[in-house]
Amino acid sequence: MRSFFFVLLSVFPCFQGIAQINFSTHFEQKTLRLDYIQAGTANSSEIYFKELREEPYWGGSLNQLIDTFGYGMYKLEVKDSLNGKLIYSRGFNTLFQEWQTTIEASKISRAFKESVIMPYPKNTVLVEIYARDRKLKYSKLFERYINPKDYFIHRENPPSWPVQKIVNSGSPDKNVDLVFIPEGYTKAEMDKFKNDVTRFTSELFSWQPFTEFKNKFNIWLVEAPSDESGTDIPGDSIWKKTILNSNFYTFDIERYLTTEDYWAVRDVASCVPYDQICILVNTDKYGGGGIYNFYNLSVSDNEYSEYVFVHEFGHSFTCLADEYYASETAYNEYYDLQTEPYEVNITTLVNFDKKWKSLLEDDIPVPTPADSVYLGKTGVFEGGGYLAKGIYRPSMDCSMKSQSVNNFCAVCQKALEDMIRFLTE
Ligand SMILES: [Zn+2]
Repeated sequence: MRSFFFVLLSVFPCFQGIAQINFSTHFEQKTLRLDYIQAGTANSSEIYFKELREEPYWGGSLNQLIDTFGYGMYKLEVKDSLNGKLIYSRGFNTLFQEWQTTIEASKISRAFKESVIMPYPKNTVLVEIYARDRKLKYSKLFERYINPKDYFIHRENPPSWPVQKIVNSGSPDKNVDLVFIPEGYTKAEMDKFKNDVTRFTSELFSWQPFTEFKNKFNIWLVEAPSDESGTDIPGDSIWKKTILNSNFYTFDIERYLTTEDYWAVRDVASCVPYDQICILVNTDKYGGGGIYNFYNLSVSDNEYSEYVFVHEFGHSFTCLADEYYASETAYNEYYDLQTEPYEVNITTLVNFDKKWKSLLEDDIPVPTPADSVYLGKTGVFEGGGYLAKGIYRPSMDCSMKSQSVNNFCAVCQKALEDMIRFLTE
């Protein structure tokens, strides 16, 4: 049951009141994609430009061009080159940034393929990428002036794989467009892929807040086949020839399933307009991964597949933090306990006023004891963000904490709802 405050806040989401930009003054309804390599160590990184691509569709809102959430360790900013005015921005996370927190990153340097997209500019723009430090302070990592008429911008036709829009709620700018990409499905398995997408999206729409906003989603799938079925499992010496080159054992964690071939992911996604990339991996092994405004991967046929899909969607769609702490991760001190994290569903209590304080009932103690009387209540429970001490979460349980189905806490539900509204208004 929602509290009065919850309803009130939902009526006035945080992004209202921010001056937005007139789309048609600055942009055309197609995509400019910037591919680059990010390379470095645990404490340093550089961005190396690769190339620009023109892609035929733009799936984002035409009204909400400026990011108002502040999620993510990175930020893309696009500025009018004549007057420096900010005309597009988005926060995002990357696999490289997760790798920087592993022990390996303190010993060697590595390079990762990355990419950002923006609506196609009409005039020359300044594109900047900023990265945050552990105190979450931004510094500029990359800048480049881009003339949209530059003849080096790649303009090949998109790949010719068949596409289907299996849920149609209307135009891409007024709806959340999810593109599902098949990984490790052969040409003969495309009917299975379509059935799997239908199963996963039915699951998503049976969870709140997605049930309430089902008519705000378009579901697309691209029938891009792999040569072989399945995915790489390095720990078992299993290697498969697949379209996205995904693998288990990312950062040597068996269940962490990702792909480092982000340009291949973008190539397939470019066949349709999209806001979010969902990759289904054709395997029954347990695993998955989700990175904010990057992609999410889920396995197709494990008994927990549907749960994993919605959990990872929480990461990739709204930058929800993991609320668990007693589990195997590769990350060293992922959060700085002297800094308030940007994720909405965890707090270090450094600046709790900016978090879910307004959702607490008067008689809830802070911190809130893990006592059964507080089950189902919004509180401030210690343990979350991979740490048992010093980080707090909003609810005893949540789908971002454990394998509990259709159980996003009130704070996570509100964050998901705010993002749906942002992308559809
Ligand atoms: Zn939650």
